[in-house]
Amino acid sequence: MFRTHTCGELTQANINEKVTLSGWVSTLRDKGFMMWIDLRDRYGITQIILDEDRSSKELFETARSLGREFVVQVSGTVIERASKNPNIPTGEIEILVDSIKILNESALPPFTIDDNTDGGEDIRMKYRYLDIRRNPVKNKLIFRSKVAQEVRKYLDAQDFVEVETPVLIKSTPEGARDFVVPSRMNPGEFYALPQSPQTFKQLLMIGGLDKYFQIVKCFRDEDLRADRQPEFTQIDCEMSFVEQEDIMNVFEGLAKHLLQTFKGLEFGDFPRMTFADAMRRYGNDKPDIRFGMEFGEITDLAKGKDFKIFDEQELIVGIAAEGLNTYTRKEIDKIIEWVQRPQVGATGLVWVRYNEDGTFKSSVDKFYSQEDLAAWAERMNAKPGDLLLVMSGNTTKVRGQLSALRMEIAERLGLRKSDEFAPLWVVDFPLLEWDEESGRYHAMHHPFTSPKSEDFDKIETAPGEVRANAYDLVLNGNEIGGGSIRIFDKTLQAKMFNLLGFTEEQAEAQFGFLMNAFKYGAPPHGGLAFGFDRFVSILDGSETIRDYIAFPKNNSGRDVMIDAPAAIAPEQMKELFIATTFTGKE
Ligand code: ASP
Repeated sequence: MFRTHTCGELTQANINEKVTLSGWVSTLRDKGFMMWIDLRDRYGITQIILDEDRSSKELFETARSLGREFVVQVSGTVIERASKNPNIPTGEIEILVDSIKILNESALPPFTIDDNTDGGEDIRMKYRYLDIRRNPVKNKLIFRSKVAQEVRKYLDAQDFVEVETPVLIKSTPEGARDFVVPSRMNPGEFYALPQSPQTFKQLLMIGGLDKYFQIVKCFRDEDLRADRQPEFTQIDCEMSFVEQEDIMNVFEGLAKHLLQTFKGLEFGDFPRMTFADAMRRYGNDKPDIRFGMEFGEITDLAKGKDFKIFDEQELIVGIAAEGLNTYTRKEIDKIIEWVQRPQVGATGLVWVRYNEDGTFKSSVDKFYSQEDLAAWAERMNAKPGDLLLVMSGNTTKVRGQLSALRMEIAERLGLRKSDEFAPLWVVDFPLLEWDEESGRYHAMHHPFTSPKSEDFDKIETAPGEVRANAYDLVLNGNEIGGGSIRIFDKTLQAKMFNLLGFTEEQAEAQFGFLMNAFKYGAPPHGGLAFGFDRFVSILDGSETIRDYIAFPKNNSGRDVMIDAPAAIAPEQMKELFIATTFTGKE
């Protein structure tokens, strides 16, 4: 038997017991006549002690041959500690050791395995298995596991069936590129890894399973933005004979259950906001509503006052940064520089100080009177002491830019509190979105999403105005879930493919299987998927999803530990019928 107890469980209650523990040597202290070893396993740390009076010379010798991270088995007696450590559960006891067995040696680790490690990000990623020995990393993985189990329990209790869908499939368009896998048995042909199990879960509804879920890996070959992973996990769900309301109820229930279980927070009905309102009020379809700072549109007020820049713009809109009237000119210039960074891309901004005495001082005083500025301030819900920040331009662009600034200001003002949770549903998304580059419409959610019946008549005449039966669950400025009621009629689905620019042949080649299945009694159905990594990280008060993934990829999509992706041997290429590798310069 390797152990009678773990390194995290012995207390005063075990005093005088003979015990055996196994674990890693965390620290070693040698005072000559006394030695201490901190022994660590997943559950905690227990102090092992040797002293001249009670421990043999051989034992001291063995102890002195140990190094950090050696794997050892120790046996001894639980005794009360002379100097107690109130910071750890085992801090009142120690083990007076009578045998030490080295189970395995360890090379010197490249960084200290400690809560506050000296290891930088890169080295810790390369030696991720060592990083996982550290509490902050390990605890996140344990937390993730607990959330996953709770999700399973909740959905199982509601009669959802967990089904594994295949990983080697054909492309499912969710807006990204596919990762592909060459098929040895089918020369020149490729599988695609699922961007989501979307079509399969719809087929399961046609199969009559009624309620499906899966905690499932999805793969999207996107240019990596900060904190995106090429493979990530969804809680994927689908239900039959449901309307939008039914789905939102079930998954609002799940979200509430998780917030209750892991945060002890109770929520009433989650607020709902239309996509159009979210864009108008926050410039964003995933607004962080933990704080106000809502947009105030002043286009009608600010135009026609001889200020050329504003006169030429489509939208003029601002926010009131609370209390930032204290900012110096230099600090305001810094904000201007911030919005001019390529990531935000604004040309500049207009500022207005709302002084404590109720007067205004602005960068455009030449053009606007005190009354004008007071009217702006009112639209932005400003108070004396605030600083108004106003941007102008093309509606979509300027909303995006001001939204970025709103989040930045909130960050500076400490308004994005990780222990506060503000969920909301965003509904009534547009069905389609115009893509300048390709000069055609793309599905905003995916091509299987149904249009709202009241907008049917616009499908031919004004496709851009058609709203979808689609909904997103937003938490603290992050989209944590999204879904839709699906098209279940083959004629409408064919029309949708056509709108998206597929020829009949292309639609048949790519989605013939689905269209065919729709011939055999497809029930009305819909569903949604939660981004599991993100949901877990936000629940745990973080926004860094890679911390919650055991073996994440870096920003260039590489696993630096196993060094993937990597070239394959020419023989393997041949076997897969891959003739050449393009250099990208062709
Ligand atoms: N498949 C969708 C996604 O990955 C979710 C859904 O519509 O259920 O976002």
